[in-house]
Amino acid sequence: LEAQLAQAQKMESVGHLAGGVAHDFNNLLNVILGHVELMGLQMPPDDPQHARLRQIEKAARRSADLTRQLLAFARRQPISPKVLDLNETVENMLKLLRRLIGENIDLIWRPDSHLWPVKMDPTQVDQIVVNLCVNASDAIGDHGRITLETENVEIASSEARKLQCEPGDYVKLAVSDTGCGMEKEILDRIFEPFFTTKEVGKGTGLGLSTIYGIVKQNQGSIEVTSEPGKGTRFEVYLPRHNGKTEDSEVEQDAEVPRGH
Ligand code: ADP
Repeated sequence: LEAQLAQAQKMESVGHLAGGVAHDFNNLLNVILGHVELMGLQMPPDDPQHARLRQIEKAARRSADLTRQLLAFARRQPISPKVLDLNETVENMLKLLRRLIGENIDLIWRPDSHLWPVKMDPTQVDQIVVNLCVNASDAIGDHGRITLETENVEIASSEARKLQCEPGDYVKLAVSDTGCGMEKEILDRIFEPFFTTKEVGKGTGLGLSTIYGIVKQNQGSIEVTSEPGKGTRFEVYLPRHNGKTEDSEVEQDAEVPRGH
């Protein structure tokens, strides 16, 4: 796992670089899309070239989608952390998750009823949960089970070294599936941006690298265990929020600090 994390960190700096390119690229794509739209408007409605224009537009929109994900990965988006009950955030998503994974996969929800609060951007929690559940459902295929759990954990120094985080109180969010699992060669690479085993158009390989970025940004940790043919378990650790009650602090909307 250490080698895996070291590699993910290396890739993270590549991500920053890519984020800069993505930003400029996005602006250029908007120029393309703007002109395509104008051309479409100025062409007679029965012009056979409309179909070509639509293809150009489709490709440009897909590129814009990809660069948006790349930007999110490079953490260029402003975030607004809030004091959260992770159980509540997950519960608000359950309906959507059930729809995403379909009827043949059971979704089990096991919240810890005395969960400590965390402080983070709720949309980041959504991103983590959705990405992990969609991956789990892809790994399952037709029939199976996804289990979502939360739990308070105290991480001691010995454990913290392994998890590459500070010792202290954490809230754990675990997503386990009864899917295909992963061989070691794949497990070693899953946090790399653009690493995917899915067919073109299905996977971008940015899901887990985005999650990794979010978790690191929040001084948390992520651990994976997987057994081929049996299933996979992702455990995300987020630091307990120790401040007073609700958002007493001024909300930050600033750019996220770089580094770990
Ligand atoms: P994507 O889903 O677009 O491929 P990710 O970064 O989310 O990108 O995942 C990278 C790869 O990790 C996947 O292509 C898949 O091979 C593997 N993976 C992720 N989650 C699971 C899982 N729950 N079970 C098995 N393999 C997984």
